[in-house]
Amino acid sequence: MEEVYVRKMATIQAVNGVYPIEGADKICQYGIQGWRVVDQVGKYKVGDFVVFAEVDSWIPTTLAPFLSKGKEPRVFNEIPGEKLRTIRLRKALSQGLLLPLDVLPENDWNWDDPEGIDVSELLGIVKWEPPPEFTSADAKGNFPSYIIKTDQERVQTCYGDVSRYFDQTFEVTEKCEGSSMTVYYRDGEFGVASRNLDLKRSDENTYWKMAVQFDLENKLKALGKNIAIQGELCGPKICGNIYGHDVFYWFVFDVFNIDTFSYYTPADRRALTKELGLVDVPVLKTEASLAGETCESLLTMADGYSVLGTTDTRREGLVFKANTAERISFKAVSNLYLEKVKE
Ligand code: AMP
Ligand code: MN
Repeated sequence: MEEVYVRKMATIQAVNGVYPIEGADKICQYGIQGWRVVDQVGKYKVGDFVVFAEVDSWIPTTLAPFLSKGKEPRVFNEIPGEKLRTIRLRKALSQGLLLPLDVLPENDWNWDDPEGIDVSELLGIVKWEPPPEFTSADAKGNFPSYIIKTDQERVQTCYGDVSRYFDQTFEVTEKCEGSSMTVYYRDGEFGVASRNLDLKRSDENTYWKMAVQFDLENKLKALGKNIAIQGELCGPKICGNIYGHDVFYWFVFDVFNIDTFSYYTPADRRALTKELGLVDVPVLKTEASLAGETCESLLTMADGYSVLGTTDTRREGLVFKANTAERISFKAVSNLYLEKVKE
């Protein structure tokens, strides 16, 4: 079975740089993997280990009360806290949160090499998710365990590893801002799932309506393979509908072979979406080389405009998938998009 990527929201990391901010003497940027995080000057030095929580983390108030700055904390999954988002302080980009190691309870880890240890659960840090537009009454169960949930590692997290990929080619697709939708067929059973739930068949539910619109149940039964097709559902009221769509779209980005518990290659996925009359996420390149690229250059590449919707809609970012049987896939989310820069 291949290793399943699960996004680690909070890990132990070493500070790899300290960068002054022009015109600011109390704060500076610290480098962590490919990220920059603003904090007080003098708090850490290069080589220090810290707890690093990525953007999109939900940070319980008990852990970092200062995040709510005197305001009433917000609540997610019944836990008061705040969501980490991309911000700028004195014009300097800041993404994520650094905490000293003493926030961790006593432990018996191997401190010779603590880098990368996942401390999310220990600290109660989870990924913030937008509220679903359906209730759990629509679910027949959790996401099927025989399929991998959709997720993408951030390029900043595999920083330094980009050079490992110089001799491979990648499919580059636009990252679409919507909601993850998976349809599956397994031993005669057809189903539709959101990112976390297996959904009850319904005429009301947008996900099921989309599956019916594409006639997926019949198509997958006719195909007769145990597979899952995973795509992004975009349209009215989903994630702010940044493309201004007035109907729903489902853009496929992965096909998963349930029998072998592995993903189709990008080319095999594109062949199947074509065969089934489905729509891929926008494919910008099929054979891109990343030779010479860095974390920074890939982030700059991610800035740009969406090919969906109106011409002045900034895209969320890019997703890179290696054209190999081995699964290598990561996202570069545009910092301009995250800051909601509008020109
Ligand atoms: P995030 O939205 O930051 O959690 O990033 C991961 C998610 O992006 C995946 O779970 C997918 O639902 C979604 N996504 C949107 N566009 C793409 C794409 N082109 N390739 C892969 N995943 C995508
Ligand atoms: Mn998303």
